[in-house]
Amino acid sequence: MNRRGFLASSVAATLASVGGASLPRWALAAAPIEADLQAVTSTGGKVALSRADLQSLRDSLRGPLMLPGEPGYDVSRRVQNGSIDKHPALIVQPSGVADVRTAVAFAKQHGLLLAVKCGGHSYSGKSTCDGGMQIDLARLRGVQVDAARKLAFVGGGSLLGDLDHEAMSLGLVTTAGTVSHTGVGGLTLGGGFGRIARRFGLSLDNVRSMHVVTADGRFVRAARDENADLFWALRGGGGNFGIVTQFEFVLHPMDREVVGGRLVYPIARAKELLAAYSEISLAAPDELYLDAGLVAPPGGRPGIFLFDVCYSGPRSGAERALAPLRKLGTPLKDGIAAVDYVKLQRSGDTTDLRIQGEYMKTGFVNDYPAALVAAQLDGFQAAPDRNTMIFFQHAGGAINRVAADATAFPHRRSRLNMLTAARWDASPGAADTGGAAHMKYVREYWASLEKYTDGYYTNEVSNEPQKLLDDNYQGNLARLRTLKRKYDPTNLFRLNANVLPA
Ligand code: FAD
Repeated sequence: MNRRGFLASSVAATLASVGGASLPRWALAAAPIEADLQAVTSTGGKVALSRADLQSLRDSLRGPLMLPGEPGYDVSRRVQNGSIDKHPALIVQPSGVADVRTAVAFAKQHGLLLAVKCGGHSYSGKSTCDGGMQIDLARLRGVQVDAARKLAFVGGGSLLGDLDHEAMSLGLVTTAGTVSHTGVGGLTLGGGFGRIARRFGLSLDNVRSMHVVTADGRFVRAARDENADLFWALRGGGGNFGIVTQFEFVLHPMDREVVGGRLVYPIARAKELLAAYSEISLAAPDELYLDAGLVAPPGGRPGIFLFDVCYSGPRSGAERALAPLRKLGTPLKDGIAAVDYVKLQRSGDTTDLRIQGEYMKTGFVNDYPAALVAAQLDGFQAAPDRNTMIFFQHAGGAINRVAADATAFPHRRSRLNMLTAARWDASPGAADTGGAAHMKYVREYWASLEKYTDGYYTNEVSNEPQKLLDDNYQGNLARLRTLKRKYDPTNLFRLNANVLPA
């Protein structure tokens, strides 16, 4: 036997003897499928996937097909929200566009429930599923910057930190969210608020083109000059219209050093500070990004009021922009300093390794009356076994200077994004891993706040009824539904803020 033949037969023998579970991930491409598999269809029915079909899928992929118990399966199926514990029947981790197309074709052929995962940060766990297929884009991760043309080409499975890291190293930047392990995919397709969105617009406003695998398995480019209708729908329509394998972003020159950090005050001053925030956030220059919030940690420790600041304009303008904050008196802690932008972008990353559950309600605020301050304070209840939060993400500025129908994202009047959330210990054995009591609290609190909002951020959607989803697309719904019929008539891509085909 020649050397190649020996290697092939010994690998096959090893694979056969050890079974899938102990194989390294690279070897999965060659591992034999042992049995048929039961899976779930997009309409909740059952479908049997034959061993032969699964083997053929595995053989045609370059990235792994992962079945329950196989290496990598658990990492892929898990999402950021630890209270979500779903088990897809099969997971494909494409190595590139070819694998994405193969996986989409397989899901379509078998009518499978399909989840698509980038950073896995969907609060309601839209990027994983029970019994269906998950396409995990983790291998489509990478950023290339064309500094001369101020463009970034970003793989559809990249995280925000990848983009900030590469672009900022060349003195360039584009809008990204405030936590660096969030996915570029989900964040951009639904909106993309962040520390520089008031200057440069939402992440989706900075997209120049996208490469997309559509529900019928085609690979297309969507841009202003090509498939313009799809380009419009993808910017705000979330994952409804296909799988984006590459984003092209416009970049902007920006100093790496910004002025930012956190100001902490006693929670007893919340009323006065929220009222001040209403005025300061409205009058702020585009370069100033100011979040505000109340946070009560678990364990009965006293809560705090905080401002999170990022001033990204010229240094000479910083003190003037921050003057209204300085007038509010001495905080308990003043963390504002000249800081590396990329470091600031990572300052909210999760370092707590406990499995945490999270439930959130959000809405856009166009006007911020005193009655809203009162409602916020009346309903805010700390609890010993959860982190309780209400906070505002600063919007306005350039976000508002785009017409509501210019992209599928309609909420262009929003000054602020108001979020209330509970976070709890969801590790096995914890008192309330599912968080039922905390979710009930958030829902009741939200009931007193919702009337001050005008729609909500689809990226923070939590299994809302279809009517609410529809209403939230406001004047863009009819066009979205027509385009859904054109690009995804069978609603293959449904685990998102779903648009039903017209
Ligand atoms: P995933 O869970 O992987 O995906 C979310 C949805 O997008 C799914 O429906 C998925 O199918 C779809 N999707 C993802 N990638 C693709 C792709 N390439 N092609 C097609 N569909 C795709 N939002 C902000 O705007 N600003 C913030 O500062 C911000 N901070 C956050 C901080 C944390 C800790 C968390 C958990 C969320 C935050 N968000 C923020 C919300 C965030 O925008 C959403 O959770 C978003 O969906 C995350 O994208 P993802 O790729 O990580 O999520």
